[in-house]
Amino acid sequence: MPAHQEWVENNNQYAATFGEKGELPLAPAKKLAIVTCMDARINVYAELGINEGDSHIIRNAGGCAKDALRSIIISQRLLGTREIAVFHHTDCGMLTFNTPQLRKLVKDSDPSNPALNAVDEIDFLEFNQLEQSVKDDVTYLKENPLVLAETTVTGWVYEVGTGKIRQVV
Ligand SMILES: [Zn+2]
Repeated sequence: MPAHQEWVENNNQYAATFGEKGELPLAPAKKLAIVTCMDARINVYAELGINEGDSHIIRNAGGCAKDALRSIIISQRLLGTREIAVFHHTDCGMLTFNTPQLRKLVKDSDPSNPALNAVDEIDFLEFNQLEQSVKDDVTYLKENPLVLAETTVTGWVYEVGTGKIRQVV
């Protein structure tokens, strides 16, 4: 059964106790933007003890800062956030491939279709050293002229095997 077929019933229960969350302002209360991986095992709210309305949560494959820049600019310039936390995690899929391999996989799926060559324009931003990748992303943000100079930037690893976080930088 497709996952979406359960949603309306589940949502009816959720909306029934929605309460005051409908009154939350648009801008994040903690002036915080979190960049983290799309990994299905990561529950950012529970892991950090934050709630709806507290933080922007920008998710992509790997929690890559470069991929998140568009959202970060919007978050800072239009919605007032002044702190960024980058989270990468153990057992991340980004540690398992490289860009040339993935480009080949896509193109080999239908060699007769030249439109698939568009994948050659995509850098998948994989990494092979977890903690170094966090440091690199923090440096990228601190040095990026499009990120506000007064921004507090920290970098973290989340351990999917234990639920624990640790600060890297
Ligand atoms: Zn991941």
